[in-house]
Amino acid sequence: MSRRLPSALEFEQSGTVVRARCHYCRKNDTMQSSGGRHRAPPEEAHKFFIHRGWTGLTGKKPACPACVSKFRAIKAREREEKAAMKEAGKTAGPVVDRVVQMRGEAGLPTPGVAEMSRSDRRKVFRAIDDAYSEDGGGYVGGETDHTVALSAGVPVCWVESIREEEFGPAVNEDARRLEADLATITAKARKAEEDALAAATLAEEASKDAAEWGKRFSRLQAAMGPKAARL
Ligand SMILES: [Zn+2]
Repeated sequence: MSRRLPSALEFEQSGTVVRARCHYCRKNDTMQSSGGRHRAPPEEAHKFFIHRGWTGLTGKKPACPACVSKFRAIKAREREEKAAMKEAGKTAGPVVDRVVQMRGEAGLPTPGVAEMSRSDRRKVFRAIDDAYSEDGGGYVGGETDHTVALSAGVPVCWVESIREEEFGPAVNEDARRLEADLATITAKARKAEEDALAAATLAEEASKDAAEWGKRFSRLQAAMGPKAARL
């Protein structure tokens, strides 16, 4: 205990009263000096407030007993919640298992978990059959494993496995058409490139011819003498 009054306490009425004010709820608490007219000893005042349940008297945020117990309750609740969450984490596995079981009982698909029943296989087969071209062209239009699974209300992995076993590759007409378009465009681009090269070769030859013709003309002019130069 120091000889000086902790920063959160102050003397009042010439030192016969020591006052503490809670930083949080602003409530005051006072101590009357036992000596009456004498200034209370600082360490005695400090002890007095500590015994009454005050904390943080030497700092900037003193707390009254009511606020201290409020904070302790909050801390305790936080600890309980953390512990409860930890406990919940341990039981998450069984909960997931139970949800899978309940979905199964309710007739809902559980992707990647449940085995297909015979009726599931027939349902998936019919759904793919409706969307898959007979001549092995793949799915019609823009259909995919996903669109078929979605409209049939079954997991995509079921559609994938039945389609692989019974139908063919996961292609569709739209994709084939795009592929064909791309091939056409690529071919056109290659042709244009070739044409440009041919044109460049022709242009080079033509300019060579022109240069050659120019030289011959100059020689001719020279041979004809000054008269020709005046032409
Ligand atoms: Zn308080």
